[in-house]
Amino acid sequence: MTSKALQSFLTDNINDLKERGLYNEIDPIEGANGPLVKLDGKTKINLSSNNYLGLATDDRLKETAKAAVDSHGVGAGAVRTINGTMDLHLELEEKLAEFKGTDAVISYQSGFNCNMAAISAVMDKNDAILSDELNHASIIDGCRLSRAKIIRYNHSDMDDLRAKAKETVESGDYNKVMIITDGVFSMDGDIAKLPEIVEIAEEFDVITYVDDAHGSGVLGKGAGTVKHFGLQNKVDFQMGTLSKAIGVIGGYVAGKTELIDWLKVRSRPFLFSTAVSPADAAASTKAVDLLIESTDLNDKLWKNSNYLKNGLKKLGFDIGNSETPITPCIIGDEKATQKFSKRLYEEGVYAKSIVFPTVPRGKGRVRNMPTAAHTKDMLDDALDAYEKIGKELGLI
Ligand code: PMP
Repeated sequence: MTSKALQSFLTDNINDLKERGLYNEIDPIEGANGPLVKLDGKTKINLSSNNYLGLATDDRLKETAKAAVDSHGVGAGAVRTINGTMDLHLELEEKLAEFKGTDAVISYQSGFNCNMAAISAVMDKNDAILSDELNHASIIDGCRLSRAKIIRYNHSDMDDLRAKAKETVESGDYNKVMIITDGVFSMDGDIAKLPEIVEIAEEFDVITYVDDAHGSGVLGKGAGTVKHFGLQNKVDFQMGTLSKAIGVIGGYVAGKTELIDWLKVRSRPFLFSTAVSPADAAASTKAVDLLIESTDLNDKLWKNSNYLKNGLKKLGFDIGNSETPITPCIIGDEKATQKFSKRLYEEGVYAKSIVFPTVPRGKGRVRNMPTAAHTKDMLDDALDAYEKIGKELGLI
């Protein structure tokens, strides 16, 4: 029997979310998450996935995953530190270290638990973390879990960061201080000001942590935001995910050997949660191999992304400060944004609306994620739909 307290908690809160239009209904995809997706039995142009390079449906990765199932089975069988570390996990970590140009890498089951794990393995209640106000939820949760003092700085505001770093360090109240930022911000597609962040970190001798979930495979010819700025060896933690450009699942930190050794003995999901499956590890290694061998997919991603961005701008849409494939089309009003996305869907384009509380009130947007796998025809069709609905709703 459900307790009355739980029952009323659930009913009250779900009804409240529904009344405020914030209850997120999930649309299941029938089949693969490629440039086209099937929903409700109908094929749509997919501008909603993080499958930047189209690798989630790549035949080479599929073959590699199938072979790994045959040779290693479907599950790792244990946590990494008991007997769940397979040769395939080590190969993945070595390949990622080569890709990132760091001494070593530790991998986790997801990007989300990687942030939870790595931040809390190093920072504690005697420390302070300077965190960009737009950082991802997994960073926020990782910071909270560490029990360090969290000091938010205004988004990409380097004067604010410098002042807060100075005050925090000079207070003498903390053992360690860290600056943590997304490399690419997931709602606006803007890039963190890493050269200034590294300069501030060096000036005040603080730790640097970059979550490059949306930069890896995208910036720096694929190697990520740190490489994009030529700052290799200047950032302590290069965190990444295997679920976006790499097309599979998992997360990792690339860094110096001693840091990775520490994470292997102190990060709890590594110690207490079963390792990713052999198929996932092998497919991820194959993806990284492909990115080391050639920049073709990365070039295609940028070509498509520039094409869509220019098309939207020419039509008169506001794409904000986007500098990467993440292309918001800022509508503003929440209801108008939802209506826009719904009409796009009816016209065959699947691009999700993102509204408060994920973005500030009045900054509702439809977020477009072009990938290397889209064809020019698909992007043209999407732009036609944008033009039609933009005019219909009086937005352009
Ligand atoms: N960091 C950022 C910036 C992200 O956007 C995401 C994914 N939404 C994550 C971390 C978590 O990665 P994953 O989906 O692999 O758990």
